[in-house]
Amino acid sequence: MIPFEKCPICGHELEERKVEKLLRGGSHTASMKVSAEVCLHCGERLYSEEVVRSFEEIRNKLKNQDFSNFKNLGQSFTVAETWPNKAILPTA
Ligand SMILES: [Zn+2]
Repeated sequence: MIPFEKCPICGHELEERKVEKLLRGGSHTASMKVSAEVCLHCGERLYSEEVVRSFEEIRNKLKNQDFSNFKNLGQSFTVAETWPNKAILPTA
């Protein structure tokens, strides 16, 4: 499934894990659990080609507001410009 047997960054072993992924399309975001090969040494995550293609499809669907095959988990927010700590800024 993956062209790498070792981590391409640090050369350590990879292990299949379910990781949480957040994708953004337009002003919408979707979170999901994804099977990935994860380097237990440096944390690098490797996804299969099919998964990368699905990420692209998900981003496009979010951008086009096509929410078929999505379920609503609630609203998402960013902070307003009035947020008192200026180290924290809105993303849009
Ligand atoms: Zn690594």
